[in-house]
Amino acid sequence: MKPLHTFHVGRRLPLSLSALGDIADNLRWSWDRQTQDLFRWIDPALWEETDQNALRVLERVSSERLDDISTDSRFTEFLKKVENDLALYLNADSWFQARKSSPLKRVAYFSPEFGISSALPQYSGGLGVLAGDHLKSASALGVPIVGVGLFYKEGYFRQSVTPRGSQFERYPTLDPLSLGLTKATEPFRLLVGDQEAKIEVWSVSLGRVRIYLLDTDNDENPPELRQITDRLYGGDIEHRIRQEIVLGMGGVKALRAVGESIQVFHSNEGHAGFMGLERVQEMVDSGLGFVEAIETVRSSSIFTTHTPVPAGIDRFPYELIERYFAKWAANCGVSLDDLMQLGHVPGESADQPFNMAVMGMHLSSMANGVSKLHGEVSRSLFSAAWPDLNTEQIPITHVTNGVHPSTWVSGEMAELYSTTIHPNWANGSKEEWEAINSVPDATLWQLREASRSKMIPEVRRRLRSALIKSGWEEANVSWCDTVLDPRALTVGFARRFAPYKRADLLLSQAERLITLCNNEDRPVQFIFAGKAHPADDPGKDLVRRVFEFSFTSGARGRFVFVPDYDMSLARTLYQGCDIWLNTPIRPLEASGTSGMKAALNGCVNLSILDGWWAECQDGDNGWAISSAPDEYLEDERVRLEADSLFSILEGSAVPEFYDRDEELVPQRWMRRVKASLSSLGPVVSGHRMVREYVEKMYEPTAQRSSALGASTMGGISEIVNFKTRVRAGWPGTVITSVERRELPSSSTSQTQGFSKSEVTLTLLSPTLDAKDLVAEVIWGPVGSAGAFKGEKSVLAELLDEEIGENGRILRFRAVISPDSQGSFGFLTSVRPSHPLLSSSFEMGLQLLA
Ligand SMILES: *Cc1c(COP(=O)(O)O)cnc(C)c1O
Repeated sequence: MKPLHTFHVGRRLPLSLSALGDIADNLRWSWDRQTQDLFRWIDPALWEETDQNALRVLERVSSERLDDISTDSRFTEFLKKVENDLALYLNADSWFQARKSSPLKRVAYFSPEFGISSALPQYSGGLGVLAGDHLKSASALGVPIVGVGLFYKEGYFRQSVTPRGSQFERYPTLDPLSLGLTKATEPFRLLVGDQEAKIEVWSVSLGRVRIYLLDTDNDENPPELRQITDRLYGGDIEHRIRQEIVLGMGGVKALRAVGESIQVFHSNEGHAGFMGLERVQEMVDSGLGFVEAIETVRSSSIFTTHTPVPAGIDRFPYELIERYFAKWAANCGVSLDDLMQLGHVPGESADQPFNMAVMGMHLSSMANGVSKLHGEVSRSLFSAAWPDLNTEQIPITHVTNGVHPSTWVSGEMAELYSTTIHPNWANGSKEEWEAINSVPDATLWQLREASRSKMIPEVRRRLRSALIKSGWEEANVSWCDTVLDPRALTVGFARRFAPYKRADLLLSQAERLITLCNNEDRPVQFIFAGKAHPADDPGKDLVRRVFEFSFTSGARGRFVFVPDYDMSLARTLYQGCDIWLNTPIRPLEASGTSGMKAALNGCVNLSILDGWWAECQDGDNGWAISSAPDEYLEDERVRLEADSLFSILEGSAVPEFYDRDEELVPQRWMRRVKASLSSLGPVVSGHRMVREYVEKMYEPTAQRSSALGASTMGGISEIVNFKTRVRAGWPGTVITSVERRELPSSSTSQTQGFSKSEVTLTLLSPTLDAKDLVAEVIWGPVGSAGAFKGEKSVLAELLDEEIGENGRILRFRAVISPDSQGSFGFLTSVRPSHPLLSSSFEMGLQLLA
C-alpha cells in the first residue's frame, strides 16, 4: 500500500551537537577529509554503510550513540575545531580577494547537471562532474559565483546487469529534504508553452558557493508539468525543450526571486541557452528595444561548448519553437522568424531546426571549447556562423578543463603533496610541483602499492553488492571475493559507455589481452565500469560484451566489470589503478577529465592523443596511443590503434612496472609517475581552470558589460548604432588595390638582413571612415601546397584619407620583415573596429584581398 499524504520530520540533535547539522548541510564534507573523519567518528560502520554520506549518518544514527558522543569531550573538541575550520574556510581571503581591482562582481553558472558527490546524484557523466568541480575550485579560490540547475527527482539511473550482461535501469526517487537541500525562496510561476508551472527553488551550499536547483514536482502542477524535472536526459525532444525552458528561463527568474544580482551569465553547454531569451524579454518589458536587449545580453554572456560533433547539439524543429515561443516573440515585438534567426547560421531558411549552440554563440560575446584541440575543432564546426572569417579567426577560444583536486585525490597522496609541494598544493605552481622529484622512489612506490591494495577489496565489495542489487543469487556471487590481485599492474577504464569511447578496443585482440592477463610473473589486470544511456543500444551492447568477456576462461578474475558506476566508484579507481586507459576515436573527446583525476593520484595515462591529453602528453609523462588517419576504414583503424595500445602495454608498461631494483622498487615506473605528477599536477587542477576562466573570460566580460552599461545604457546604443551603420555600409565597401614594394636594405646594418616589404592597401567606402575599421596584413612563409606555414599579422596604419566621388578613399600601410629566405605570401584583411566590440571578429564581417 502507498500513503496518500507524506510529510517530513526534521533533524533532532542534542543541543551540544547542533553544529553537526550545519556542517552536514554544507556539502564541503564531501571533499574535506577532516570533516569526513568527524562523521566517521560518529559511527564508523554507518559511515561505510551510507557510502560515506554525512547527511545519511545524521539521519540514521541512534539517539543513544548521539548521547554518548555528546558527552565525549574529545569528540566535542574535534567538533569545535571542524566548526571553526569551516567558518574560516567560508570567510578567508583567497586568490580572488587578492585581485584587488577585479571588475568581477558575480557570475551565474548554468548547467543541466551538477556532479558534486554520489550523495547528490544529479549527473550522468563528465559534463556534470566538471560543473561540480568548477564550482568547488571557484569556492576554494573565493570567486563570486552561483550555480543554477534542475533538481531531477529521479536523478540519473542506477545501473543493474543481468547474468548475461544486459543492462537495465532503476530510478530510485530522491527526496530533496534528505539530500541536504533547503527551499531558497517562495515558489514562482513560469509560462511553459501555454501552461503556467509553479516552480520550487532548492538551494545547496558547496563551500562558499551556492547552487540553485529548480523543481516542478509539486502538488499544484498537473502531472505533465510535474514530470518536467523527472530525470536527466529522459523523454523525447519535447520533454527536452520543456526542461531547457525551466532551466534557462526559470533559472533567470529564480535568480531574481532569491535576490542574486548577476553580472556575468555563463552557460555550460547549450542546454541552458534559453536564459538569454528570458533576459531579452525582461529588458524589453522594461522598455528597451529588442536589438538593444540582444546586445546587452550578449555583452554579459559566456558560452562554453562541450561537443565536437553536430549530433551532440540540441536542435529543435520550427513547430516546437513556435509552440513554446510564439508568445515570447509577440511580447518582444518580433516575428517568429526573427527568433529562429538566433538559432541559425547566415543563409539558413527559417524552417530549419533551431540550433541551441548557434544561439549560444549569437547571445554571448565570448565562447570557448574545453581543450586546445577542441577549440580548433569547434572553430571548424561552427565556421558556417561566420562565413567571412577564416577558420583560425573564428572567435571561439579554449579553456582546458581541470578537476577539483581534493575531491579526487586520496588522503595519503594529499598528505604527501601538502608536505612536499605546498600546504595549498591544489593551487601549486609548476616550480612547486617540481618538488615531487625529491621524494624517494621507495616512499612514493609504497604509497602507490598501498593505494592499490586498498582499492581491491573495495572493488570486490562493490561488485558483489551491485550484482546482488541486480537480482543475482547470493550463492552465485561468492567469486567476487577473490577477483583481482593486489600486487598486479592494474589498468582502469571507467566512464560513460558511449560508442565513440570504445570500451571494446582491447577486446578486438582478445588473445593478446588474455596473454597479458595470464602472464604468471608479470600479470596485467583490468577494471572496467560505466553506464550506457538507456536509449543507446550500441552502448548497451558494449556493456554486454565487456561484461561477457570478464567471464571468459582466460580473463576471469583478471578482467572485471563493476556495475553501477558513480563518482564514488570513480574515485576509488583513480586512486588505486596504475594505468588509466582512454581510447576515444580522435577528435571526438572534447576534453575528458577522468585521466586528470587519475594522474593526480600517481596513476599514469595511456590514451589516444585526444582532448586534454593531446596538449599535455610530453613523451615521458604517459603514453600516446596512435590514431589512424581519417581515411582509414573502420576495421583498419581498430587494428592499427589496438596494435599500438598492445605494443605499449607489452613493450613499455609491463617491463617498466615489473623490473625492480634490489629494494623491489620499479625505478623506471617511478620515473614515469614523477614525470606525470610534476608536469600535470599544476595543469590539470580545476584551480588552474577557474583562474583561466576568471582572467580570460569573466573579468573581460565584466569589464565590457559595465563599460557598455555605464552612463545609463549609452554604451549599448552606441554599439547598436555602430553595428547598424557598419552593416548598412559594408556591402559598398571594397578593397580597390593592394601593392607590395620592397624596401631598400639599410646600409648601416653590419649583417646582411633579409629584405623588408611595404604593403599598401586602398579601400573605398561610401559611409565608413578610418576609425570604424581595422586593416591588417597577414603574412608568412608559404609551403608547397600554397598555404601558410605559420602566419603572423601586423596592423596597418592609416596613410591618408580623402573624399572621392564614390565615397571615402582610405590608404593603409604596413611593413613586413621576413626572417629567412624562401617563398612568402600575404593578404590584407579589413574588419569593423570599435572599442566596445569584444574583438574586431565579433561582427563576423571581413574583406580580404
Ligand atoms: C570524471 C568523470 C567522468 C568523465 O570521464 P571521461 O573519461 O572524461 O569521460 C565521468 N563520470 C564520472 C563519475 C566522473 O567522475
